[in-house]
Amino acid sequence: MYIPETLRQIVIERAQHRCEYCKIFDIYSFLSFHIEHIISLKHGGLSEKDNLAYSCPICNLNKGSDIATFLESITTPIRFYNPRIDTWSEHFKIEDTGLIIAQTDIGKATIKILDFNHPDAIIERQILLSSNMF
Ligand SMILES: [Zn+2]
Repeated sequence: MYIPETLRQIVIERAQHRCEYCKIFDIYSFLSFHIEHIISLKHGGLSEKDNLAYSCPICNLNKGSDIATFLESITTPIRFYNPRIDTWSEHFKIEDTGLIIAQTDIGKATIKILDFNHPDAIIERQILLSSNMF
């Protein structure tokens, strides 16, 4: 999906060059970050500022077009964290070990599907944290 350069820059600046999900800075990643649709086009989301987020490719590819998942109950879907309406610190906490801990069901759903705590991500976060780069 084509996003005009001016809009891309607005999204990147608003995110302060960090993935809006796992919070890694773009300058410490070897991969190019994505401008992603919080509510995917498939679910009626628009390519507008309020529905766009800056995301590392790992979070974006894990999220895909999903918007929710199931936790304990398979009858009540739990939506993902939405960087436009939610506050990161209310849903997640980062430990010195590099682990991101959910504070809410929205946090749990997001961590599960975006795979924040993949062993490689934990190691990377640990290194960045210990170097004050996170
Ligand atoms: Zn990320």
